[in-house]
Amino acid sequence: MRITLMRCVLLLCVSIVFGMEQARGFEEAGSDFADLQQILNKGWQEFEFKGAKNASNRWGTKVDSIVMHTTEGSGVYENTVRWFRNSGNNSNSAHFVIARDGRVTQMVDSTRRAWHGTYYNRRSIGIEMSGFSRGHVDPNDDRVDTWRYEVGEPEDVHDPTPGDGYRSNLDTLADVVAYYVQRYDIPLIHPEGEAAWHKENGEVVRDIDFNQAGLVGHGQVQPWNRRDPGAMFPWEELISRVESRIPEPSVGILMLLGGLGLLRRK
Ligand SMILES: [Zn+2]
Repeated sequence: MRITLMRCVLLLCVSIVFGMEQARGFEEAGSDFADLQQILNKGWQEFEFKGAKNASNRWGTKVDSIVMHTTEGSGVYENTVRWFRNSGNNSNSAHFVIARDGRVTQMVDSTRRAWHGTYYNRRSIGIEMSGFSRGHVDPNDDRVDTWRYEVGEPEDVHDPTPGDGYRSNLDTLADVVAYYVQRYDIPLIHPEGEAAWHKENGEVVRDIDFNQAGLVGHGQVQPWNRRDPGAMFPWEELISRVESRIPEPSVGILMLLGGLGLLRRK
């Protein structure tokens, strides 16, 4: 009896250390997926869940931020989804991957920690936008910054999408962000600044980590080797699209509160 009990305790410890903290096989869909199906499947977006290989526990940390990425070298939408599903045990993951035409795949439930932004993983939701983040023009490089659509630049030759890809991916992103802003009470702001760091003997030394809630860029969290989603990412436009998706407190509720005397000043 005692041996059985000890074995149970031991097994529990092992499962906590290895099963919950480390990758546990493919991630599973949670309540987010059902909720978002109601929102996304009403429209034109294709939405599915394909569990990522790598994710872990948040250990109770409150979600207060969304970290934006662009897929860069990982390529287009399908390749990135495949990578997060089939890569090695210590590889990256994100909660969502969004295609240029607005299709979206969820890969990790928001109650779990995806591996996309180093020290920000516990507190954040990670979203990968298919595309590139370069905020400048290099005539010797044929990649095009995804967000230059905003100023009417030509289509991205690496990820051609019929129709207006820029509008579509940003619309899907706004749907997803609006859901989480309301669910976790994430501030609908894009805070300025980035982490401070320096190099010592060729090694990166972190001086002051970035520490802001809201909608942030991967480059702000990890500026020593990441710039995505890039200087041209349309933060203001994203925020205004999200705002338009969050309902004002309904008139009915306000009238009810007024009737109960809850809005009356003394
Ligand atoms: Zn990134």
